[in-house]
Amino acid sequence: MMTDPIQAHPPHGGMDGGCISIHGDVEKHINLAILLNLKAMLQASGYEVLTTRESDISIHDEGIEGIANQKKSDMDNRLELFNSIKGAVCISIHQNQFTDPKYHGAQMFYSDSNPKNAVLAQTLQNQFVAFLQPENQRETKLCGKELFLCYYSKNPTVMAECGFLSNPEEASLLVTEEYQQKVAFTIYSALVQYFADQKK
Ligand SMILES: [Zn+2]
Repeated sequence: MMTDPIQAHPPHGGMDGGCISIHGDVEKHINLAILLNLKAMLQASGYEVLTTRESDISIHDEGIEGIANQKKSDMDNRLELFNSIKGAVCISIHQNQFTDPKYHGAQMFYSDSNPKNAVLAQTLQNQFVAFLQPENQRETKLCGKELFLCYYSKNPTVMAECGFLSNPEEASLLVTEEYQQKVAFTIYSALVQYFADQKK
């Protein structure tokens, strides 16, 4: 029985929708769909899964006024959850965007706050190439404080940018249930691989 806890979360919710695709789809809905698929797969395999949200809401504290303050409170609460279980693996699910629509493909971002982050990011990146995007040559990307959750999380943490909503083909794929399930399975199998490697 595998019981390694995993925290997966869709980073945007409520008034914060994330980015908008070239076809007008909102990032947060795609992130949430991938998350719910991923959660089901992990739970079916016996993993314990905690999520920061499972519906389109912000998780700021009650009584906080103003969008900027609510966003900060939402972020602080998510970080608290990230650090609430020692040794949990934290995945933040996002979609990317860029001014030039030609760019596509998944890319993993991490901080050097935990030495395991680079390994987790590479495992995820490899799995995207193996399962979904054989042409993807992106390298995992080390980031600093601007990745708030990755930087301040004490647990192994990666921000997974699953695809580009500014790319017409990828944006069309990412709103289909079938592709969302494929992305979720890619992340799922990377996590299984990561835990297996850690036990070696
Ligand atoms: Zn995002």
